[in-house]
Amino acid sequence: MTMSASSQKSDTAVMLGMKMSNVQRWSDRVITALGQNPSSFTGPGTNTYLVGTGKARILLDTGDGRPEYLPVLSEALESAGGVAIQEIVLTHGHPDHIGGARSVSSEHGPVRISKRPYARFDEPFGLEINAIDDGDRIETEGATLKAIHAPGHAPDHLCFVLEEESALFTGDNVLGVGTTVIPPETGDLGQYMRSLDRLLEESPGALFPAHGPRIDDGPSKIREYIAHRLAREEQILQTLRDGHQKIEAMVSVIYAAYPKALHAAAGQSVASHLLKLETEGRVRRQEPDTNDPVTAQWILNA
Ligand SMILES: [Zn+2]
Repeated sequence: MTMSASSQKSDTAVMLGMKMSNVQRWSDRVITALGQNPSSFTGPGTNTYLVGTGKARILLDTGDGRPEYLPVLSEALESAGGVAIQEIVLTHGHPDHIGGARSVSSEHGPVRISKRPYARFDEPFGLEINAIDDGDRIETEGATLKAIHAPGHAPDHLCFVLEEESALFTGDNVLGVGTTVIPPETGDLGQYMRSLDRLLEESPGALFPAHGPRIDDGPSKIREYIAHRLAREEQILQTLRDGHQKIEAMVSVIYAAYPKALHAAAGQSVASHLLKLETEGRVRRQEPDTNDPVTAQWILNA
């Protein structure tokens, strides 16, 4: 899941209008199959990846399970030289990544399905999950994926280093279009920022995101993401200094140039920043209404 509201103004149009080919070769070891699920939240749709060089390859992510994806996946397997699927690996359990696992496994398997378990996301899909976690490696001919636990967008989120190319599959943590949503209930912006630092430490070359095109210069994109969040945080602190206490008021200042239709989504983004600042002890909620971060009154701690 992605969003364009908190990035530049033009991103919405880019996100909705961007077209990507169904099947693309991104490197010697990586071929994409587009998930056929375009939307304002997924951009051109979810990128799924065939990884490896042999007769059977890893499928990384599976789209959201719509039937139109299966022929596209077959086309990708065909373009790789008529190869099979060795196993499925998932970045995380959001529906646009895990949703196709069952139908792919029925058509091309059964195959092993690996992810970092998280019952709240996994259970609705009723899959048998092979548990993997930070540091684990998944190998296929010509390619090794090393898992990095990178929570924040989702608690179960793994990114994967493609060791032979020092490339990084970033899932929804870094995107080729728009910016990552931190969902209020299961996301955590503080964790997300630490995950970005961790990904930077891997000194990746190219990034292969779950939505949008390949990113050639990984470190500068990750630094751009960090700078974007820190700049937003500073804007929020400034609106608090100026005496705005409600998210609605902060949004109307910070997002003044954005269409009103995006303000609700922007409010969620501001809420995720305030929750991070609260965890850090830099802001607090005032009585009487403190339960819902979106309607609470926020003030700076001295
Ligand atoms: Zn996601």
